[in-house]
Amino acid sequence: MQPLLTPPAPLAPADFQGEALLLAPEWTLVDEVAQAGLAVLIRRGVFEAVGPVEALRQQYPDLAVQPLPRRLLMPGLIDTHHHLTQSYGKALAFGEPSEIFKRIWVPLEQHLTEEDLYLSAKLAALESLRGGFTTVCDAGTRSSAGLAAIEAAVQEAGIRCVLARICHDLGATEAQVRETEAQAEQHLARYAAGSRLHASLGIAIPEVASDAMLHRVSHLCREAGVAFQVHINEHLASIERSLVARGLRPLEVLHQAQALGPELLAAHVTMATPSELMRLRDAGAAVSYNPVASSWKGNAVAPAQLMRQLGIRLGLGTDGTRGDAFRLVDAAETAQRLTQGMDVGDFSVGAGWTWLHMASAGGADAAHLSRVTGRIAPGLAADCLLLDMDVPELCPSWDTGWELVRLASSRMIEMVMVGGELRLWQGWPVDWDARALMQRVRERARAAVEAAPIVRIHPTSGEARAAGRG
Ligand SMILES: [Zn+2]
Repeated sequence: MQPLLTPPAPLAPADFQGEALLLAPEWTLVDEVAQAGLAVLIRRGVFEAVGPVEALRQQYPDLAVQPLPRRLLMPGLIDTHHHLTQSYGKALAFGEPSEIFKRIWVPLEQHLTEEDLYLSAKLAALESLRGGFTTVCDAGTRSSAGLAAIEAAVQEAGIRCVLARICHDLGATEAQVRETEAQAEQHLARYAAGSRLHASLGIAIPEVASDAMLHRVSHLCREAGVAFQVHINEHLASIERSLVARGLRPLEVLHQAQALGPELLAAHVTMATPSELMRLRDAGAAVSYNPVASSWKGNAVAPAQLMRQLGIRLGLGTDGTRGDAFRLVDAAETAQRLTQGMDVGDFSVGAGWTWLHMASAGGADAAHLSRVTGRIAPGLAADCLLLDMDVPELCPSWDTGWELVRLASSRMIEMVMVGGELRLWQGWPVDWDARALMQRVRERARAAVEAAPIVRIHPTSGEARAAGRG
């Protein structure tokens, strides 16, 4: 019998805590390519230097090099479309027809207490971190108490968050419109430079705002250089409703209001005409491609490959479906393969790197955070993951970029860091009690869901089996 090979020496949380860290992983993911022999210096929350191990060892003789054998250091991934306050209902939407916001999300969010909103957002932030996301874009809570609750939750969980304030004016009085505009301006000035919170404004769908409000909010975002988050052309029902109410499709409503520009972070865009795609490109707008949301509740899949070829900026989003970045990039590739590649014999479909890029640097660009995160590069925030590559799934390895899309899983994540701070070690927070949070969620969630006037169409698995349904 062969002697057992010993695994690499175990690492400990203390290896990733300190004033300055000079890490030497076996591989570093730089622009979607795994490079061997690099070291990364992390100091004061940012990547200070990235270069050959020997060069950095000589440049920083006072720092000990921390070798990380069989590990990959990669950028933390970006979820460009989330609803952090919807966690209680995440498993209520399965099998439901498309417009679940009317029957589940609006009733639920309007019946959550401030504590529920906080618990829900913190649980979502934890799931996102465990799944490899270090940044989430929240599209805006419908609850008035939601913003403060999300702020507290994401600060404590330690995830980076682009947080939208909702600015609707359908049916509002003139005084209410002025108040909404004032609150929008205040929100944009709310977070200090260097904060892990980043301001944004949002309008859930174009029909709930006047042309004047759409124009005002988009220009406020443009001037501030932040994301304007809107759900666009997601479902057939929403397109039809917009046509009936305004005579225009949702994207055309934005165009008419002169609210279509580089600030736009358009969620979904699953049903776009050729002229709408050209408008998005010409405006320099970004799209959040949400393949799991399409699969679970959609009418269609966004033509992300075509959008990318046209030059439309793209990130990936979960829409709150599940906070797992590796399953999201896998779904992103698979959905394009099934809807765009298969019929035309395109076996590459962007290869692995396209979807990794969308989940990292592309997502950062879509979220207006290119100068903050998305890559392992000097000057950017130290938002990163350490993956254990010593696993059967990646043995033998030929093309790490593609393997991360098809074979990797969140189980491989040993360490999650945001802004140079260790947040998770082997899937669990290092400085707060996740199990206590989960216990409180279990205590609260059932009562909150039962109190809300939620209408579900689809039975649970148990109900369906009992009724003999397929
Ligand atoms: Zn959404």
